[in-house]
Amino acid sequence: MSSRIIRADFPALAQLIHGQPLVYLDNAATTQKPRSVLDAMQRYYLEDNANVHRAAHTLAARATDAMESARARVAGLISSPAADQIVFTRGTTESINMVASGLSHRLHSRDRILVTALEHHSNFVPWQQCALRTGAHLDVVTVTPGGEIDLDDFRNKLCQETRIVAFAHVSNALGTVHPVHELVTTVRARSDALVLVDGAQAILHLPVDVQALDVDFYAFSGHKLFGPTGTGVLYGKRAGLEMLRPSQFGGEMIEHVTLDSSTFNTLPYRFEAGTPNIAGAVGLGAAVDYITGLERDSLLRQEESLIDDTICALTAMNGIRLIGTPTQRLGVVSFLVEGSSPHDVGTLLDQQGIAVRTGHHCAMPLMQSLGIGGTVRASFSLYNDQTDVERFVQAMHKTLTFL
Ligand code: PLP
Repeated sequence: MSSRIIRADFPALAQLIHGQPLVYLDNAATTQKPRSVLDAMQRYYLEDNANVHRAAHTLAARATDAMESARARVAGLISSPAADQIVFTRGTTESINMVASGLSHRLHSRDRILVTALEHHSNFVPWQQCALRTGAHLDVVTVTPGGEIDLDDFRNKLCQETRIVAFAHVSNALGTVHPVHELVTTVRARSDALVLVDGAQAILHLPVDVQALDVDFYAFSGHKLFGPTGTGVLYGKRAGLEMLRPSQFGGEMIEHVTLDSSTFNTLPYRFEAGTPNIAGAVGLGAAVDYITGLERDSLLRQEESLIDDTICALTAMNGIRLIGTPTQRLGVVSFLVEGSSPHDVGTLLDQQGIAVRTGHHCAMPLMQSLGIGGTVRASFSLYNDQTDVERFVQAMHKTLTFL
């Protein structure tokens, strides 16, 4: 199976931007959607639309089945032991916030939270806020000049008082793949801390098995794996999820209410207050079906070779500085053009039909560690092909002549 073949499944890729065929290299921000996802959502609204769980009629039963079958498919994608350990959220950000605020009642001023300087703000600021709220201390693992977690610093900062360790599976800014299994093993050997992994950038590019990784929580967004925006997942070990206090109340999360007090539903509903994003869950289920129907291994190998070609071509250009040289990298190439702002480079590329992202990529602590303000980021997905790389390289040559 080649990326050229699956490209045809993504209608948005077949368009002209400023008169040129679109080359979409902003996949770390969000991926385009295959027709099967769009069709599933439209069919849901055309035929099955009803509120879930609380009605006896046929449409409500169909909507409930559609949502719960999506949950089961998501559970299968990440090898969750059970579907009720999959909480539907609005995205990675909400999933992580749910854990950070849900655990606050267990943290005290002698406790410590360990994060890394490589994190997306969505896996940094919730912990910073949690520390401010609870008085716990926030320890931040430093980053090597090549853009990897400093493993010695990780080991040094991890201690008996560490209650939570949170880090990304793959960095959105540099593409660094973190050694999740090694990090989790280190944590287990030295503390009782809970481990949360931000899987936003890994979920499409890696087979994820939450049991093999032995993580307590794994968070990701639907829109990064060909699903709709406003969908996401929080996986948790049962014991971890049971420790969390819900922070939103009402709807299906309720078990019983009196004038004085309330009790809450079982997992996962206790964390899904209000009418959920049913059509979103349907779209996410269709995205999981789409991905599992692909020969993902061969597509990922192609994607890796496109990244190697891109790095090779950029390295041969004068005035280009690659940012991050991780030993294991996925999906992302970040760089700077000496003497030019990333924004100017991005604008000139856009005029040639190339979509890249520029700026700090919601990773300001990382940019501060590296002593830069931002980068130009080209990020790849399974539908990118050799023509995209050739067009990007040509456009870069032309851009360099304008700067
Ligand atoms: N974590 C990482 C590593 C990300 O790349 C992103 C989005 O780019 C997020 C968290 C936040 O995801 P969302 O905006 O879908 O909640």
